[in-house]
Amino acid sequence: MTFDLAITGGLLVTPQGVRPGTLGIQDGRIAAITSPDASVEATETWDAAGLHVLPGAIDIHCHLRSPAYPERGTVESETAACAAGGITTLFEMPITDPCCNAPDRVALRRDHFAASALVDFALYAAPAELTSSAFEALAESGAVALKIFTIPAPSGREREFEGLAWPDPADQLQALTLAARHGLPVVAHAEHPAILARGAALAAGLDPADAATHAAARPPIAEALAVAQLLALNLQAGAKLHIAHVTSAVTLEVLRRFAGSSDFSAETCPHYLRHTHEDVARVGVYGKVNPPIRTATDREALWEALHDGTLTHVTTDHAAFSVTEKASHAQNFLTAPPGHPGTEFLLPCLLDAVARGTLTLPRVADLVSTAAARRFDLPDRGVIAAGARADLVLVDLSGETRPTPENLLTAARDVAKLAHGDRYLGRIAATVLAGQKIWDGTTITAAPGTGRFARPLRSGTGS
Ligand SMILES: [Zn+2]
Repeated sequence: MTFDLAITGGLLVTPQGVRPGTLGIQDGRIAAITSPDASVEATETWDAAGLHVLPGAIDIHCHLRSPAYPERGTVESETAACAAGGITTLFEMPITDPCCNAPDRVALRRDHFAASALVDFALYAAPAELTSSAFEALAESGAVALKIFTIPAPSGREREFEGLAWPDPADQLQALTLAARHGLPVVAHAEHPAILARGAALAAGLDPADAATHAAARPPIAEALAVAQLLALNLQAGAKLHIAHVTSAVTLEVLRRFAGSSDFSAETCPHYLRHTHEDVARVGVYGKVNPPIRTATDREALWEALHDGTLTHVTTDHAAFSVTEKASHAQNFLTAPPGHPGTEFLLPCLLDAVARGTLTLPRVADLVSTAAARRFDLPDRGVIAAGARADLVLVDLSGETRPTPENLLTAARDVAKLAHGDRYLGRIAATVLAGQKIWDGTTITAAPGTGRFARPLRSGTGS
């Protein structure tokens, strides 16, 4: 058989381990995995000598916000950044204007993204109404999961959060119960509103230009308590629950105490793994994210949790704002918009750990790809195996990545100040979507509109 494409000479990162082999790709899928010395006929052959081949990353936590707020980036600019970061499928959060909280808005965003995406995309929805019929309609819309916040909408952003913010635990219980009934996973931003209110009162007496004021306003216990509450509610509700962006040692302790009690999982993000509050103090409000970046002790606890399985996913929480939006609040951590770009740092952050010998490549593949596909019902993604989609990232562990405003592709390149000047061991040499090279290590090599809507199997037609 003659394949469309053969990738030879590389080391394949499979669930069974890392091994040399050739990938035969046909019609966008991995048709065969052969031993390195087998002869393979293909229309096109790439030499991947010296490179490792991983499944393309599936980023289950991304904020593009498009079509609103083009000054923060467009589908084209931010999915180009995904391609450069080795991400082949992104899950877009529903926070936008208007909020993605109904089937017609899911359809609107699906068509908008499809017109110019360079990578595949799935869409979250917000549960605007806690009724069985509304949840059923969202499940049928092809939404990959629901997103909820356990805190009220930030003031001035009510439209973006319409149907997302459920601070009352009775509502959280209802949302989890309905989600379980309709087979929709729920992803939660977990902070406790009463603890945040106490933090805000405390912070009001502190210097708003000081990074420590933001940390005081949103302490780790706010996260830990909200997670404990959700996990207690889920004992009764039985939903498939996922905790977004865990930041602190105390929250990890809560996750461990609830281990096995219901079907839940949890993630952290590269900025929490790479940086500390001291870096936030250095870059100012550009380093403001919610929940805040914590201490070196918390950071070490997060790495430990990746090793012991308390955390099973690493995601970007890519949330770009414009320089103007950040700069106009430069002296006020309490009013500055929260968010930092992430798509171009997710894999570099983890590859750096591999190059330093503290993480293995199969574990990285699981943390950024395989576990996401499994958890969110995208069965033909996230793995190098015969029959799976040929969504791949080729990495060079002997290279390095040095982000600068000049070489980043995100429209928020100038606000990614936590990453500017950082040096990661490891380099992304190419990204492949359904057998097509979309990034060659220096340039985007696909046309806008190459990316497709990724629909979870549960919602009907597969991906
Ligand atoms: Zn987020």
